[in-house]
Amino acid sequence: MAIGEFELIRRYFTRSSANAVLGIGDDAALVAPSAGMQLAIAADTMVEGRHFFPGTDPHSLGWKALAVNLSDMAAMGADPRWFTLCLTLPSVDERWLSGFAEGLFALADRFGVSLIGGDTTSGPLSISIQIIGEVPVGRALRRSGAQAGDDVWLSGVTGAAALAVRQRMGEVVVGDLEREFCAGKLDRPEPRVVLGQALRGIATSAIDVSDGLLADLGHIAKASGVQILLDQWAIPLPPLSVRAELLDELVLSGGDDYELVFTAPASRRTLVEDLALSAGVSLTRIGMVEAGNGVALFGRDGHIVQPHKAGFDHFLN
Ligand code: ADP
Ligand code: MG
Repeated sequence: MAIGEFELIRRYFTRSSANAVLGIGDDAALVAPSAGMQLAIAADTMVEGRHFFPGTDPHSLGWKALAVNLSDMAAMGADPRWFTLCLTLPSVDERWLSGFAEGLFALADRFGVSLIGGDTTSGPLSISIQIIGEVPVGRALRRSGAQAGDDVWLSGVTGAAALAVRQRMGEVVVGDLEREFCAGKLDRPEPRVVLGQALRGIATSAIDVSDGLLADLGHIAKASGVQILLDQWAIPLPPLSVRAELLDELVLSGGDDYELVFTAPASRRTLVEDLALSAGVSLTRIGMVEAGNGVALFGRDGHIVQPHKAGFDHFLN
C-alpha cells in the first residue's frame, strides 16, 4: 500500500536532531548558532539525467547529495551542523526511500550534521539539500585570499570520477576493477571536512573541485586577482589505464572529484605537510600563486600553456 507524504517523512526522514532546538514537524526548524560563530550556508541540487544517470542506486544518491554539500562546508573551513532536504519523487518507492535514507544518514552521522526539515513533492526525481555550518567569526576560507608567493595544494587525486562518467556514457571501456574504482569516486565522494576545518588560519583561499581542477582554480585566481601557475609534473595521477592525453584531460578538467584545492603561504609548508597526516588525506603541492591573472600550466614539454578546455559549465556545454 502506498504511504502518504507525512508517513513518508516520519518513516524515512525523522530522526532525533540533537543539534537543533526544534527539528522536523513544525512549520520551521529552530536552531541556535554558537557564540562567536558565523553561519555558512550552501545548497546543491541533483537532477536525474543531468547530475546523475537514471537508475543510479538510491544509497549512492543519498550519500552524494549530502557529500557535495559537506564539501562546500569543507571548502569554507566550516563545521557542518544542520541540513534540509527537498525531495521531488516520481512515485513513493519504499525500497528506494530506505536505500536513499541509509546513504544519507551514513554520512550525516559521521559528520554529526542533523536533518532538520525539508519539503516533499511529486515530479521528476530531484534532490536538493541546503546545509548550514558554523565557522569562527572572520575565519572562513574564501576564494579571494590567495597572495602572490603562496603555494597551491591539492588533496587526494582528481580524474577518476570523470572517467566513470565517460564509461557510463559509453565513451570508454575499462576493466571491471577500474570501473568499480572510478564508480566509487563518482558515487561516493569523501568530503574533506576535517581537512577544511584544519586549514582555518593556514590556507589563504580554498575551493572544492566540483567542475574540474583548472576551472575551480580559475575561480580562485579571479576572486583573488592573481595568476595560478600549475606544474603539471607535480599533479598526482590516478591509477587509470587510459591513454596519456585522456588522462591529462580527466585530471585537469574532469569534475565531480570533491577534493580541496587551496593556497597557503610558503612559510606554512611543513605545517600543511603535517596536516596531511592528521586529516588522513594526501596533500600535494602542485603550483604557485603569482602576480597576473588566470591559470597557466607549466606542461611536461617545458612550455607554459593557457589551457582552453577548463571545465564544466551547465550553460556553456
Ligand atoms: P509545510 O506545509 O509547513 O511546508 P510540510 O508538510 O511540507 O510542511 O512538512 C512537514 C514537516 O516535515 C516540516 O517540518 C518539514 O520541514 C518536514 N519535511 C518535509 N519534507 C521533508 C523531507 N524530505 N526531509 C525532511 N523533513 C521534511
Ligand atoms: Mg512543505
